[in-house]
Amino acid sequence: MKRDRSRGYFDEARALIPGGVNSPVRAFGAVGGTPLFFKSASGASFTDADGNQFIDYCGSWGPLILGHAHPAVVDTVRRVAGDGLSFGAPSRHETELARLVVENVAPVERVRFVNSGTEAVMSAVRLARGFTGRSAIVKFEGCYHGHADHLLVKGGSGLATFGTPSSAGVPEEIARNTVTLPLDDEDAAEELFARRGDDIAAVIIEPVPANAGLLVQRAEFLHRLRGLTESAGALLIFDEVISGFRLGPGGAAETYGITPDLMTFGKIIGSGLPVGAFGGRRDVMEIVAPLGPVYQAGTLSGNPVAMAAGAAGLREILRPGFYEKLEACAAQLEMLVAAVLSRLSVPVTFVRMGSIFWFSLQDPPTPRAFHTIDPSGMERYARFHRALLEQGIYFAPSGYEVGFVSAAHTPTHIETTAKAVEEALEAAHCGS
Ligand code: PLP
Repeated sequence: MKRDRSRGYFDEARALIPGGVNSPVRAFGAVGGTPLFFKSASGASFTDADGNQFIDYCGSWGPLILGHAHPAVVDTVRRVAGDGLSFGAPSRHETELARLVVENVAPVERVRFVNSGTEAVMSAVRLARGFTGRSAIVKFEGCYHGHADHLLVKGGSGLATFGTPSSAGVPEEIARNTVTLPLDDEDAAEELFARRGDDIAAVIIEPVPANAGLLVQRAEFLHRLRGLTESAGALLIFDEVISGFRLGPGGAAETYGITPDLMTFGKIIGSGLPVGAFGGRRDVMEIVAPLGPVYQAGTLSGNPVAMAAGAAGLREILRPGFYEKLEACAAQLEMLVAAVLSRLSVPVTFVRMGSIFWFSLQDPPTPRAFHTIDPSGMERYARFHRALLEQGIYFAPSGYEVGFVSAAHTPTHIETTAKAVEEALEAAHCGS
């Protein structure tokens, strides 16, 4: 496969942009080699700068549930852009997208739009602190919530006491207000609440943790978090930047039958344009400026083109039968991959929840907590990834990342993919 152009473009970018990329995992550091430069994309496929075609399961890291360049979204962008790119003043496009979110996501009574998932989470955490008058927040090892200082924190030496920064540039004193707990562990959460319940402003969790593999949680664990936060007067924040509108219109909150106080969104609600949102209980949301004392703002927030694109995408996925078809497609992938895995007898587990999937390159049991992921599987994933690329299948360039099936994948794409998976697992000696 020719890669000369992508390599040349990467060299050119590296001379101007740190690492040649505007978000680190794109650099292919975890799988080796250099990133492909995309030239164009449509439906389930994209074409790189050298003219190679790939079936894409990264989907821009989740937003593209409709596939690339869906006509309803692209036509809307063209039309609305013609009316003006930004007003810095209200437009009906914002209300339209807000209506779609509020009408479909039961815990969201009020919603505010921002420009990324990071901003959504950062604002929700500030709001929780402003509402409760408390400082500490609790997050879980293996969950990613964007790159705001207080969320780039890992468990410190005394687990469930103080966090330590997971990035240079995050002051210790900020990390100290974040406590990191293991997923899938009610006892640790109970112990923390017994000791520090009165200090905790919020517990934030990806209810479907999908940033360190796919660590599907037991419903009992999530319900326990709801109970603990409620009793302690702390807020529960579901970070649904990935799971929102992905598992179904109501996201993981609906799937698990849990009402969080606040929810955060990103990815799908912008249909591929930069949109994030936070929303939830009316009494909490109504202390955000200008109604209340919690400041939050954005020059380009509620951008008309992005809002209209988001609404156009959501209208498509809210059509009857959409999620059933997506589920059937993802289930076909699971079935064909299961057959491959039983033929090859390799230490690989395919984990799936709805249209989110993960190749865990280790034997069962399926990990539910970050510390149960075998890091040696990541080297095998790098070989698997390279072998898949050679066959025209694009998975995220890291073994910790999940894949996404979109509405543009057809049974033929899935069959082609399953065959490629079989060859790639063999070629990459994933059994060894
Ligand atoms: N929260 C979750 C669950 C995410 O997966 C991400 C990004 O992957 C974020 C927040 C941050 O979103 P963004 O990259 O749009 O800032």
